[in-house]
Amino acid sequence: MDNEVIYLDNASTTKPYKEVVDIMNKYLTEDFYNPSGVYKQSQNVKKLIDDSREKLANILNCNSKDIFFTSCGTESNNWVFKGISENYINNKEKNHIIISPIEHHSILHCCEHLERLGFKITKLKVDSNGFINLNELKNNITDKTMLVSIIFANNEIGVIQNIEEIGKICKEKGVLFHTDGVQAFGHLNIDVKNLNIDFLSVSGHKFGGPKGIGFLYFNNNSNKNIKLENLIDGGGQEFKRRGGTENVASILGMVKAAEISYNNLEKNTKYLTNLRDYCINKILNEIPESYLNGDKINRLPNNINIRFSYIEGESLVLMLNKYNICCSTGSACSSNTLEPSHVLLGIGLKHEEAHGSLRITLNIDNTYKQIDYFIEKLKEIVYKLRQISPLK
Ligand code: PLP
Repeated sequence: MDNEVIYLDNASTTKPYKEVVDIMNKYLTEDFYNPSGVYKQSQNVKKLIDDSREKLANILNCNSKDIFFTSCGTESNNWVFKGISENYINNKEKNHIIISPIEHHSILHCCEHLERLGFKITKLKVDSNGFINLNELKNNITDKTMLVSIIFANNEIGVIQNIEEIGKICKEKGVLFHTDGVQAFGHLNIDVKNLNIDFLSVSGHKFGGPKGIGFLYFNNNSNKNIKLENLIDGGGQEFKRRGGTENVASILGMVKAAEISYNNLEKNTKYLTNLRDYCINKILNEIPESYLNGDKINRLPNNINIRFSYIEGESLVLMLNKYNICCSTGSACSSNTLEPSHVLLGIGLKHEEAHGSLRITLNIDNTYKQIDYFIEKLKEIVYKLRQISPLK
């Protein structure tokens, strides 16, 4: 085990599948053509992009014209928030957005930007398991509300919201509903029609695809009269909605990863859920004063988030890495700040509790043997750190 890297940070990014790398290689080297060309080599590539849209549409139960390729999940989120708000600048009758306090920074920071432009943001509360309160959502929607955005599955604590009920509420109230599906897509079944989702953001590198590619689903035929301005103007790509030469290799790589993920979803979910629960139970049983963050049942099959009393999560991460174990304290984007996680504070943890938390996110390559080794090292490190802890 000593030289083997034990990668337990799959919410941060995943290793691309071999098939993904192979297909990308082909479209970076042999068939590198620009899909906008009129010659057959380009047209062949364009056809593959259209087919890719179709494949994603089949997975999501939507129309292929509702899929728009973007550069990442962050862009997809920015597009929704900024593209909708642009229609309502200086309009006091429609200036309100509702989000949860456990959104990703790409949404929280967008909202801060929009607040500076005069928009009003309501952050709902979440309970200690990480769920929003559906009555609170209902009560906060007014005639001024232009968008509700609630994260599908949280990137730190893995909690899966009741998207079906949230979608129903937004439908009843006639308000647009966006969900950040970056951690959910590839890991959970998502039927955008049944769930009444108007916008869904997805990122390729969270389910075995490449980094720097994503897509946005939005319902072009919604009877809610969606007005979404472009975020990136340019050529006529993506039905004139998102300029820029298509990232062909990455689009094909991402869609290959989506196909692999959904073809194996049931089997993978079963394996990961069992491995996750084995790991959670072993840690909670064998390490005193350790507690699970986030709901036990409605959580992503690969997500574990545990807090340890009297310990700094950052120290744990660094000491585990001496044994080639990779995990994290929270979201990758905020790991270079010393601020406690807004998600853990959102579920009501005190600063020191939030600081003492560790996120372990699995993938199907992880084995029970690796988990046993990881927990053996974790126990030793927790014991050592507690002996010298000034918090104790
Ligand atoms: N939303 C969530 C929930 C995420 O976990 C992430 C990445 O960690 C993003 C958005 C951003 O995605 P990307 O890295 O593709 O910009």
